[in-house]
Amino acid sequence: MNISKKYAWIMDSLSHTPFSVKARAMKHFLTGKKEYLPKKNTNADIESIVKCSLCPNMCRFDCPVSEAEKNETLSPSARARIAYLFEMGFLEGEVVADTLYSCCNCDACRQWCPFEFSFGDILQGVHRDLVEENNLPKQVFDLRDTIEKKHVSDDKSFNIVGKHKGDLLYFMGCTVMSKHESIAVAMTKIMEKAGEKWAILEDEWCCGAPLYNLGFIDDFVEIAEINLHKIRETGCKELICSCPTCAYIFKEIYPKFKLNINVKILHATEYLARSEKSYKISKEFEKNYVYHDPCTLVRKLGIVEQPRYVLNNIKELTLKESYFHGKDTQCCGRGGSMGRTHPGISEKITKKRLEELSKYADSIITACPTCKSAFSDLGGEVYDISELIYAGCKTDERQ
Ligand code: SF4
Ligand code: SF4
Repeated sequence: MNISKKYAWIMDSLSHTPFSVKARAMKHFLTGKKEYLPKKNTNADIESIVKCSLCPNMCRFDCPVSEAEKNETLSPSARARIAYLFEMGFLEGEVVADTLYSCCNCDACRQWCPFEFSFGDILQGVHRDLVEENNLPKQVFDLRDTIEKKHVSDDKSFNIVGKHKGDLLYFMGCTVMSKHESIAVAMTKIMEKAGEKWAILEDEWCCGAPLYNLGFIDDFVEIAEINLHKIRETGCKELICSCPTCAYIFKEIYPKFKLNINVKILHATEYLARSEKSYKISKEFEKNYVYHDPCTLVRKLGIVEQPRYVLNNIKELTLKESYFHGKDTQCCGRGGSMGRTHPGISEKITKKRLEELSKYADSIITACPTCKSAFSDLGGEVYDISELIYAGCKTDERQ
């Protein structure tokens, strides 16, 4: 319908009103928008926050946080309303910070969203404003302090020996360096077997993802610049990450700050699919396995097929799919640093996903060290896809 016809009734009714009413209506029309925008400078995307605040919030049934807590206040649209009231100055940061940090950044809501919002992205700008107010939950400060002091999000527990220059740089990520040496061993041995000139950083630091998500932008840029320098010094042509979040941050977020690594960035599953002919699996796997899709891998990097290609090529392996798989996966509970900032909620989400996966098989395969940690901390038997491949190789090929 022609827009002037659609709104003709407004013009018609205005034409019958006294001049004072017309003047008032015009003044409100011209100034109204300003009244509904924050007066302070903000890093937040207010337009998206308002759209989300007014949305029927149907995505809430898929939000692991509101589902785990059975609490509407923690649903996406409700948190957008709280974010809006905070940005407008009606709610203190101190009162709302805990709620505004309770997001796994899993993008489950995005699957339903008419605007295709990534709610974690919406909250990121709000987190920046909370950081500027300096009124944050203690756990958020603690995580930032740990990364500042140690340059990783947890204590490094081992040192893999390798060259520091080469075509293929393997970036382990904090969780591998602190908890899962076996993933780094598997990846480097597989690259070795494929005849790659692989390298690792002499002193690997955090990629900066937690700092970025929590809103510590100055700290993020500082660490990202150092990483960029270290990566360039290796002379690598490709960068392989075991952690989907590291791959995503290097690929999508560094360039937003004009920090272009200028090398091809791959997640481990992409590398394993590409080099599938260079390793030979001979072991019979006796158990059934179910594959858990990590949220960042499927929803932010769009990697669904590669791990399945790798696993389905192993003839000796029986692979099951859970009902919630691919882009319909469910969060492991540790996304968005929730394991550190909201351990109670995080554990409930992990428990729920673990129960779901246990219906299909005794053992879980995943492609994210953080998912592996979440499930194994609650007693699950979990393998990273690289560990499984390495375990399945002929003994003589494992030397
Ligand atoms: S990103 Fe995940 S945890 Fe955050 S609001 Fe959306 S569904 Fe909920
Ligand atoms: S994330 Fe999208 S679908 Fe969910 S409440 Fe906000 S606007 Fe609506």
